[in-house]
Formats: sequence, structure tokens, C-alpha cells
Amino acid sequence: MTTCPECGTKFAPHTHRGPPRQFCTEKCKKAFYNLMLKRGGVLAPLAIVWRGGKHKRSDVSAYALVQMAALADLWRAEDKGAGRNVALIVERKRASGWVAADIS
Ligand SMILES: [Zn+2]
Repeated sequence: MTTCPECGTKFAPHTHRGPPRQFCTEKCKKAFYNLMLKRGGVLAPLAIVWRGGKHKRSDVSAYALVQMAALADLWRAEDKGAGRNVALIVERKRASGWVAADIS
């Protein structure tokens, strides 16, 4: 049994073919990734500016970091209220050896 990151339901991850399922239903999978896509659209420019470019160590960079932290706090509270567990997806990615970008 595994836990659905979107709704917390326990379910059997294996089907007759393909990789183990991460979500209990397609509805939960779509809801989760649509929300992450929406959040990512807000977060991406803040993360890029925070990490450098001409704004590195500037007030804009500090502003971006504060905004990201505020959003993360807000979203964590929303997730807790909704029974969503984003950490499950990150833990599964790490366990599988997945990396966002090859920096070697
Ligand atoms: Zn679910």
C-alpha cells in the first residue's frame, strides 16, 4: 500500500503493467499537478532572481527570497488543510535517483 499525495488515501500502487501509480486516481493526479503548475508559475521567476543574475545580493534578490518563503508557508498551510502531502512526491523522486538538472 502507498499513500496518495493529493488526498491521503491508501491504495495498492501496482497495476498489471507500467510503473507503480503515485496517485489513487487520475483525478487526484491531475489536481495535484495542476496546482503545482500554478504554484510553479509564480515561484519560478522569484527563484531565478533570488539565485543570481544582475540582481544577486541586491534588494530585489532579498525581496524574492522573502516572497518565496511567504508563499511556501501559505502553501504548506493550504496543503495541511486539504490533506495534501507534497513531501511524498519529493521523497519518491529522491528515492528513484531523479535529479531536476544534471550539474556535473
Ligand atoms: Zn487521491
